[in-house]
Amino acid sequence: MIALSPYLAALLLAAAVAVTWAARLWPTRPSPAAIRTDASAVWRACHTTRCAHLTTRHDETPAGLVCRSCGTVNGGAA
Ligand SMILES: [Zn+2]
Repeated sequence: MIALSPYLAALLLAAAVAVTWAARLWPTRPSPAAIRTDASAVWRACHTTRCAHLTTRHDETPAGLVCRSCGTVNGGAA
């Protein structure tokens, strides 16, 4: 195993800190435009085990809002 001198170790640490700071300051890519969804979809939280309380797309039906992922009726119309 190679023994590092304390100065070399400090230099390597400073270099690692400089690289991570530079990466943080680097401009990020612009976020994509709004994600297209069809106008009929209603986003609502679905509390079933399959959907895990996530917000999913729902379709408005006479019975209420139906989750597109699991088919559960989640409340009345929006
Ligand atoms: Zn669901």
